[in-house]
Amino acid sequence: MSERIVVAKFGGTSVADAAQFRKISEIVRSNPERRFIVVSAPGKRFSADRKVTDLLLDCYEKAVRGESFSAELRLIRLRFKEITDGLDLRFPLDEELHILEKSLKTNPQRDYTASRGEYLTARIMAAYLDYTFVDPAWCICFDEDGQLNSAMTSRTMQASLLPLSHAVIAGFYGADMTGRIHTFERGGSDITGSLAACAINADLYENWTDVSGLYAADPAIVSKPETVAYMSYRELRTLSYMGASVLHSDAVLSASRMEIPINIRNTNKPEKAGTMIVRHLPAGVVKNPITGVSGRKGMSVIQVEKVMVSDGSGFSALMLDILKERNLPFEYCLTGIDSITLVIRSDLFESCKDDLLEEIRQTLQPDFIGIRENLSLIAVTGEKATESSDANVRVLAQLTKEGIEISTINQGAGKLNLLIGVPEERYEDAVRAIYRFRQENSPAARGH
Ligand code: ASP
Repeated sequence: MSERIVVAKFGGTSVADAAQFRKISEIVRSNPERRFIVVSAPGKRFSADRKVTDLLLDCYEKAVRGESFSAELRLIRLRFKEITDGLDLRFPLDEELHILEKSLKTNPQRDYTASRGEYLTARIMAAYLDYTFVDPAWCICFDEDGQLNSAMTSRTMQASLLPLSHAVIAGFYGADMTGRIHTFERGGSDITGSLAACAINADLYENWTDVSGLYAADPAIVSKPETVAYMSYRELRTLSYMGASVLHSDAVLSASRMEIPINIRNTNKPEKAGTMIVRHLPAGVVKNPITGVSGRKGMSVIQVEKVMVSDGSGFSALMLDILKERNLPFEYCLTGIDSITLVIRSDLFESCKDDLLEEIRQTLQPDFIGIRENLSLIAVTGEKATESSDANVRVLAQLTKEGIEISTINQGAGKLNLLIGVPEERYEDAVRAIYRFRQENSPAARGH
């Protein structure tokens, strides 16, 4: 048996029907290193379709209200029946669904109900691949308050998985000491995959989905953007935070701590290499100075000025305290010689604007408060921006040349990101301009 171990997680669209199960089987069989498989519950097959997890949650809501949930349960049964029939598998589906129905009628529990999609999918997948089924209720340990117990999970998972040659693990849930099921947040099967990869110190965590990796820009704005071949964990975090979401952020965090590379792959196009997320680039890979561009609309900027604020009076700290007391998060903060500038999400700012400004006036007695609304924030991300140290300056020059007003600029010392504020109505133009700049400065365009 091969020495290397790959943990492969397949998301909702990858397990949506029998045809997708067959693709997974081919993918798994094509590489003997893929010994540990993690699955989500069946997702959407077409845009108007419903995810099995959503149907299960509907059952729960109705059961709690004392309403009939038989229509939803029937749809769930049909989804799994199509899979087992399509694969010609004998599987006790009706018995399993009967247990769920009974629990919903006698003592409905949200997390237990929501977890049954992954449970059934993993059992069917294990039978189909002839792998051992691993129920995470035995090895993903939650405390009774619903928080993951990471240390215990790591030990228990390691002890459960390492003796097995091949296994399918249900994603999305675990259990506490009393056996009560707890789920992660929505999209949490990514976390299960990452926990499994970390517990057994896998060589690679593959995350199979329905896109061929991370795009360098939003395909809704830029036509056919390039897929990024390599990016760092830090770059992924920034791009995801700013809206490019393919992977749950907690999953990235644990894999990055253990330095396990993550490979985003497409179940429908397994021939594509996808995006590799690593700490350091492999030798010889020449990277674009700009990895990707992403952003968000709906931002507001507050600028507070007071002469002599940098005299150690604690002005900036007081300003941040005001936000902290109100639990008002900010996207970033810039302190100048006599001023502090904060970028805040407009939906959060709007709901407390008048009170907040009053409090700032009372507490800080500023000389000036300026507000700018309807802004968008764009992150130009590139760990290797230093390779071409003037890339950031040239990005800004490009925006200016295109007549796009730049309201705020923030470049951290780490040079990971350039954060640029532009008016909302120029957001798409700005993203396209930056993407164009990226392509013109790609290693290929520069003759590498
Ligand atoms: N099935 C769960 C959800 O729909 C978890 C997952 O797919 O990762 O959120």
